[in-house]
Amino acid sequence: MTRPHALPFSSVLIANRGEIALRIQRACRTLGLRSVCAYSESDRHAPYLQSADAAICIGPAPAAKSYLNIEAILTAAELTGAEAIHPGYGFLSENVDFAQAVHASGRVFIGPPAEAIRVMGNKVAAKRAMLAAGVPCVPGSGGALGEDEAETARIAADIGYPVILKAAGGGGGRGMRIVRSQAELFKAVQVTREEAQRFFANPDIYIEKFLEHPRHVEIQVLCDSHGEAVWLSDRDCSLQRRHQKVIEEAPAPDIDRSAIAAIGERCAEACRRIGYIGAGTFEFLFEDGAFYFIEMNTRVQVEHPVTEMVTGIDIVAAQLRIAGGEPLGLRQRDIGISGHALECRINAEDPFTFAPRPGLIEDLVLPGGPGVRVDTHVTRGYVIPSSYDSMIAKLIVHGATRAEALARMRLALSELVIAGPACNAPLHAELLCDPGFVAGGVDIHHLEKLLEKRGIA
Ligand code: ADP
Repeated sequence: MTRPHALPFSSVLIANRGEIALRIQRACRTLGLRSVCAYSESDRHAPYLQSADAAICIGPAPAAKSYLNIEAILTAAELTGAEAIHPGYGFLSENVDFAQAVHASGRVFIGPPAEAIRVMGNKVAAKRAMLAAGVPCVPGSGGALGEDEAETARIAADIGYPVILKAAGGGGGRGMRIVRSQAELFKAVQVTREEAQRFFANPDIYIEKFLEHPRHVEIQVLCDSHGEAVWLSDRDCSLQRRHQKVIEEAPAPDIDRSAIAAIGERCAEACRRIGYIGAGTFEFLFEDGAFYFIEMNTRVQVEHPVTEMVTGIDIVAAQLRIAGGEPLGLRQRDIGISGHALECRINAEDPFTFAPRPGLIEDLVLPGGPGVRVDTHVTRGYVIPSSYDSMIAKLIVHGATRAEALARMRLALSELVIAGPACNAPLHAELLCDPGFVAGGVDIHHLEKLLEKRGIA
């Protein structure tokens, strides 16, 4: 991958905002590509618009009228002469109609083929594809549940309680319900179905074994349009609140590296089989030494930097090059993992109640020093709008060992000053000293249990 000038596009519209808009802009610049930032009215003063080669307003603050407005984004690409569109994460990044509309407009969508987004966007179809490709999945109903209650009861009993009901079209941690006995089953099916219809416009739900103490471990993949696929290390994202990741790390602590390599190989092989192209993430629950696939994300993820830190590979630049038809130029044996990386998501929110706290950043001091990286779009004087996600920065550190990474993160957090809106840095500082987290390998309930002890969940 050394000939960026060979890409078939020279100009990329970034259909996103915040830190990822800046991250994509940087990848474009390193490849000599022109970057065009699409922005909503409430982002018109965002500092990263100044460093873009061009910026264009796509509508008012509500996302439905701007960052989710396919027509407005395509018009913006037309007006600015952008030949490719990068969707970032969230918003339209996993929207099949958007990917298709970008193709239909004659532009390059920086992401996988629309068909892959469609299959992976339906968790029932995704699990079926993974089972066929030899990726282990959580035991469950082979497909969406039918209307027959006796059949549903039989499936749940066969799997064994507790089970979890999940919306086939679900995402963002919504549309899931744990069921501990048959007495709760039918009511839970009805409510989850209604929620699935309401949130995701798809009433299909399925059933899985509920794992009591799993860790969240995921595998990053990169696949080119020539049939080659590699996996780039693993990440542990078990520290979650309400299914939202709070701290991520790479590699996952205390898991046998040969087990990780085996599952990584399965993921790469699954990509070759299904003809996947681009960056993607296979999410697994890991319990008692076994991996269980739960879903695949067909986009760049918030936590991609920890993988970049341990592999030295620029994942966003790779996305651009792959979309431009370049071969990976990487073999699995070329990919090493060096040291350990951690990422803390810094949100403008109350560190105790988690209530969002948008507003003016009166003062800002960003940490530095060896192994420290800060991905943020905010500056002093920036006003965090209330219309969007509260994440304002990602603090990422790398160390030769996990202990060194932990020490660097503690130092980085102590140097960070964000005056004005409240932020969750104090929560991170506390977690970095939590004996369970410091020891490594906590399960996905660890953070909520800690918060419960404080009387907050
Ligand atoms: P979403 O797409 O909404 O994020 P996922 O399928 O990725 O949904 O699941 C989100 C989270 O829900 C997981 O990280 C895990 O915390 C929990 N979860 C999902 N499936 C199970 C399961 N079978 N057993 C236990 N926890 C689960």
